Amino acid sequence: FAPEYIRAIAPYQAGKPISEVAREFGLDENRIIKLASNENPLGMPESAKKAIANEVGETGRYPDANGFALKKVIGERYGIAQDWITLGNGSNDIIELAARTFVQQGQSVVFSEYSFLVYALVAKAIGAKGIQVPSKEYGHDLDAMLKAITADTRLLFLANPNNPTGTFLQPADIEAFLDKVPSRVVVVIDEAYNEYLDSSIQYDSTDWVKKYPNLLVSRTFSKAYGLAGLRVGFGLAHPELTGLLNRVRQPFNVNALAQAAAIAALNDQVFLTKSAKINADGYRFLTQSFDEMGLEYVPSYGNFVLVKVGNDDGAGSRVNLELLKKGIIVRPVNAYGLPKWLRISIGLPEENRAFISALKEVLA
Ligand code: PMP
Repeated sequence: FAPEYIRAIAPYQAGKPISEVAREFGLDENRIIKLASNENPLGMPESAKKAIANEVGETGRYPDANGFALKKVIGERYGIAQDWITLGNGSNDIIELAARTFVQQGQSVVFSEYSFLVYALVAKAIGAKGIQVPSKEYGHDLDAMLKAITADTRLLFLANPNNPTGTFLQPADIEAFLDKVPSRVVVVIDEAYNEYLDSSIQYDSTDWVKKYPNLLVSRTFSKAYGLAGLRVGFGLAHPELTGLLNRVRQPFNVNALAQAAAIAALNDQVFLTKSAKINADGYRFLTQSFDEMGLEYVPSYGNFVLVKVGNDDGAGSRVNLELLKKGIIVRPVNAYGLPKWLRISIGLPEENRAFISALKEVLA
């Protein structure tokens, strides 16, 4: 029923849900620990739960198609006018919208090896050519990415920090890169994990959005803001780009509860600070444990760590299966070309401890 380029797609494999693992391995759901999808281990902020409760009564009506109230809060936070903002059903929606809006079948999309799989997926779904550029030290090789741009390239993805490797691109390097990218190429900087950056390295991509008319910065409420299940993200770009995205965007792509919760979460600095602190503490504990165990890991700027669990290409799958039997769900990254590695989302202190003891048993 579908064109060859659709049939050729390998479906995205999301982290296994807790209920499925419980059933498959005969485990008690309540004792399963999920460190697989880079979610916020604190769950949803109470402020967002209250906002949802207040909004539920209104959901017999369609949501605000333009997300006026949410865009107002985002605009104030980022110092940008509302026509520079596009709301998405998660930032995946922004990524897909970018491909559908800016790229034609047969044109090309550039992204890095070991980068978020959805970039390749959205390119394939529109029959575009995906150009995967070999990574440098598990991160983006910006010089190689520049060289990979061809006459038919229309879109390029950078993830900062990157998933699944957690690497970070220095702002000065990104800016030098943006100066060199041809203006016909739309650059998406995917900042899904930005809120986890330490204040000492935090940067302001809004300035770049104002400077580069071909730049789209995407953000999400799924990670540090704790709203993964509600599906809400946004893009920041010049009104010429947002005007184009808006032609393709479904009118009610962000539901009313998600809009209300996102406003509350954006105003909840206490929750955000707490999330970042739990993450930094958890990162320190996990990486110290890996050091003690002699395991290689990629230093991460996100809410997850990529750790090498063996020297053969079966290692990731094998260790993953043994962890599942112990009720711990992490993320194999074979699909990313990293079969010796597992990606561990940073959890609550007790979850991190349980993971490390299970890993020690599995590797003993
Ligand atoms: N970008 C990156 C780099 C991610 O890791 C993720 C989540 N796995 C997303 C975007 C999409 O997140 P969401 O659609 O929930 O905003």
